[in-house]
Amino acid sequence: MAILRSATQTGIGMTSQRTRDRMLVRLREQGVLDEVVLSAIAAIPRHIFVDEALSIRAYEDVSLPIGYGQTISQPYIVGRMSEILRNGSNLKKVLEIGTGCGYQTAVLSKLAKEVYSVERIRPLVMKAREHLRDLKCTNVKLGHADGNMGLAELAPFDGIIVTAAASHIPQDLLDQLAVGGRLVIPVGTEEQILHLVERLSEDDYRTSKLEAVKFVPLLGGTQ
Ligand code: SAH
Repeated sequence: MAILRSATQTGIGMTSQRTRDRMLVRLREQGVLDEVVLSAIAAIPRHIFVDEALSIRAYEDVSLPIGYGQTISQPYIVGRMSEILRNGSNLKKVLEIGTGCGYQTAVLSKLAKEVYSVERIRPLVMKAREHLRDLKCTNVKLGHADGNMGLAELAPFDGIIVTAAASHIPQDLLDQLAVGGRLVIPVGTEEQILHLVERLSEDDYRTSKLEAVKFVPLLGGTQ
């Protein structure tokens, strides 16, 4: 007797290789051109980060709910922010603020030697930890904390990526950036603009405004 398996198990349907390949084609069309970032995205199955009921939409270019009023980032923005952070060279130590379900974290694990990520909602830290364990992302450490303060004990970082929109750029994150390092952060409330801050020397920073984005807000405290 034939054993019927679900579409997710067999890879048939919306989580198939073809659907995933189409996402890569779309990312290129949208201007994500760093081949290392594209390979990292190709290597991480996005459907495992969302509830099974939503997995048929996992390779669409949309953010999707992950519970607790939060979302998984849109593939385009994950690609774009990773590309800006990497700037063509391999990263050593990266800090992510706003782990969520851990999708961007998993992509970063392919781009950096060590990845640290903090999330303020405890059940999401647990969820992300499970996903990253399943994917054997062994170079990642997660923490339950308010990311506004960064992670002083592990600074400096050559890359810091914030995946929630800040009302202003937190001073602690600027302090924890290595000289030559890059901070990528959405700033704004109603209208949000992706900012890149480069630390040029001990006390010289250059800030560039890149493009309009849409993120959940960077909040304070933990829950
Ligand atoms: N990086 C995720 C995006 C998650 S959405 C992905 O790849 O899909 C942004 C996350 O930032 C939410 O889970 C939210 O709880 C978290 N967040 C908001 N403010 C925070 C803060 N001050 N410190 C840590 N995490 C925060």
